[in-house]
Amino acid sequence: MTTNRASARFEALRIAGSRSPKVFKKSFASPHDVNLKASEYFGCNTFSFEMMEKKLSHSDIATLREFATSNKPLSLDLATKVAEAVREWAIYRGATHYCHWFQPQTGATAEKHDAFFSFDKNGNAVERFTGKELIQSEPDASSFPSGGVRATFEARGYTAWDASSPMFLMESENGMTLCVPSLFISYNGEALDEKTPLLRSLAALNKAATESLKLLGHDAKHVIASAGPEQEYFVCDEALFNLRPDLLLAGRTLLGRSPPRGQQLEDHYFGSIKPRILSFMMESEHELYKLGVPCKTRHNEVAPSQCEMAPIFENANVAADHNQLVLEVLRTVARRHQLQVLFHEKPYAGINGSGKHVNWSLADNHGHNMLEPGDSPMDNIRFLWFLAGTIKAVNTYATLLRMSIASAGNDFRLGANEAPPAIISCFLGDTLTEVVQKLTTAGGGNLTDRAKNINLDLARVPEIARDNTDRNRTSPFAFTGNKFEFRAVGASASISPSLTYLNAAVATCLNEMNDQLRKVSSRPTQEDVLKLIVETFNEHKRVCFEGNGYSAEWHKEAEKRGLPNIRTTPEALAAIRDPKNKSMLSAIGVHRGEEAEARYNVKLERYIKVRMIELETLQEMLSTDVFPAAIAHTRILAQSAASLKAAMGGVPQEIENQLKMASDLTSKLATAKDKLSGFIDQCSAIHDEPKLAAKIAAEGMPMMEEVRKVSDQLENLVDDQLWALPKYREMLYVM
Ligand code: ADP
Ligand code: MG
Repeated sequence: MTTNRASARFEALRIAGSRSPKVFKKSFASPHDVNLKASEYFGCNTFSFEMMEKKLSHSDIATLREFATSNKPLSLDLATKVAEAVREWAIYRGATHYCHWFQPQTGATAEKHDAFFSFDKNGNAVERFTGKELIQSEPDASSFPSGGVRATFEARGYTAWDASSPMFLMESENGMTLCVPSLFISYNGEALDEKTPLLRSLAALNKAATESLKLLGHDAKHVIASAGPEQEYFVCDEALFNLRPDLLLAGRTLLGRSPPRGQQLEDHYFGSIKPRILSFMMESEHELYKLGVPCKTRHNEVAPSQCEMAPIFENANVAADHNQLVLEVLRTVARRHQLQVLFHEKPYAGINGSGKHVNWSLADNHGHNMLEPGDSPMDNIRFLWFLAGTIKAVNTYATLLRMSIASAGNDFRLGANEAPPAIISCFLGDTLTEVVQKLTTAGGGNLTDRAKNINLDLARVPEIARDNTDRNRTSPFAFTGNKFEFRAVGASASISPSLTYLNAAVATCLNEMNDQLRKVSSRPTQEDVLKLIVETFNEHKRVCFEGNGYSAEWHKEAEKRGLPNIRTTPEALAAIRDPKNKSMLSAIGVHRGEEAEARYNVKLERYIKVRMIELETLQEMLSTDVFPAAIAHTRILAQSAASLKAAMGGVPQEIENQLKMASDLTSKLATAKDKLSGFIDQCSAIHDEPKLAAKIAAEGMPMMEEVRKVSDQLENLVDDQLWALPKYREMLYVM
């Protein structure tokens, strides 16, 4: 007896197993372009600064380029010139609509399309796009999370063009839309999105770092943070995906027994890529190149059906936009290949989850990397200065960084033995650790002599960059030769918050160091600078840790050092309300007024909603999938037992045992299911959000685990013919 749902599973398996790789046709503006190299069509769907050069003056373009770091508003006059140029280009390319493309605090992007089509003064139909339309738009903002900011002041919000990130054409099967990267702000100027605080943090960092460089004797006009996010994800055949309510609604499996073969054979990491997946990757890269996203690396990850893509790094603001495009394009293109991508941090229990390693550094207008040791002691002092500033920032604002990566999904990764622990620490590597140690312990005393030695030592520093082979995958924030890698960011998250708070913390610490140095002298010597670097290292080196971040010893050691170990999202979110963090964010200009508080509300509410969706989905799956299968299985065993008894006068022991096990587990499941329903009811009655979130974290999570255990035992017992939910082995291996 096969139920309909279970036969749907077998049908899906048959379909998933028989698909062949999709051959895709490269789409271009002209059919002659199919043989172009990536470098020849890269960015063809973006309106670049180079394209503006024909229409705009040098100083206009410089103003636009500096928008990200200057925090200055743009003139309508300039916007009008750009609007004219971009309209001509976009319409020539076939665009019919434009939209302000922005990033509300949902982790996703939002867009509202308007047609270029309009009527002129005489009532004639025309295509129009004005400077005013480019610079500002008013989407109906009431349905986006605001955390209370909008409600207190004004219900409306508006979007404003971010001139520092290139406009692009989003292609679909039936036309093109011009997307204008935008900020999303309330009428009183409060940020309602992820981009505005990021731009403010970049402006603050620019100011602080440029000031540092001046004090250190370097000439630089501006400094910008760079970012290169390595994106991990899973793929799953769409036929199987569609039969899993949990994947559809919660993005992760809430049930499912780990197969005997997971990742223990270690054959997936860098393994040959399955043809269907490779084909999907290639088409995604093609689309991304057109959008100006510099895709560089693709490979299989550790877990079966897990992959990674990494771009070449860019300015942090553009990198954040591009990472959103990566998520969007991978999702859309996957569907053309009958695949689904899973960006959840932990789609499957028992095997690795997905993160986003955000590589971060600082560069000046000459292209010098502040975190790259150079060829002269002077360059290396600059390197050590920024290294010290970053370490100081990570130590001082560890809870804020922890907050920036907190999400319901990431709670499964952080602290589990596959991703960095929830304790924020810095990894420097052997050589650099030795340099810092030498700097900070060399006999105290006379710095002039030490400085001479240090200067000799500093000549050695460049080797560090070239020979940084000692990787430590257990560190949440690791120095990797010429940049830091923030490894604790979740795969589904926007990279903006982690970059924003990191930038803000570093800017604040650099400002403090600048002030300290200025107090010593208005024209500090190398010795003065080194002295301050040494002091800073000494004060903050407790956050540096070179050992195994997964180990129990580190947890103990971190506690001794006074480093916070924050395990769940509700606890982690509190950091943004911490007066120390709040006043830093307001002083540096990243959050104004009630914004920090509002962000806390948005994030907490999101945590609760995500968990309630999980709880309710689980409850439904137990009722409509697992329980019926368990009952059916028990009934078949009981019927067999009865007929055997009738025919042979007795029931074989094995059947008795099986029947007992099945009926025991079924009643255990029924009890657990009822408990879960009761818990959901209790939650619905709690209106105090911090209380509710804490309750879910403390009671709901273990309860989900408990139910899952029973269900997974049943999965291992119930006749495969009766099981309707695609199994782990099928989702992970069949494609
Ligand atoms: P892995 O960490 O896997 O060894 P790579 O060394 O190839 O990877 O680099 C990872 C990412 O770091 C890439 O996206 C790369 O562009 C980025 N990256 C390299 N230099 C910088 C930098 N100065 N600032 C920010 N990101 C950088
Ligand atoms: Mg990496």
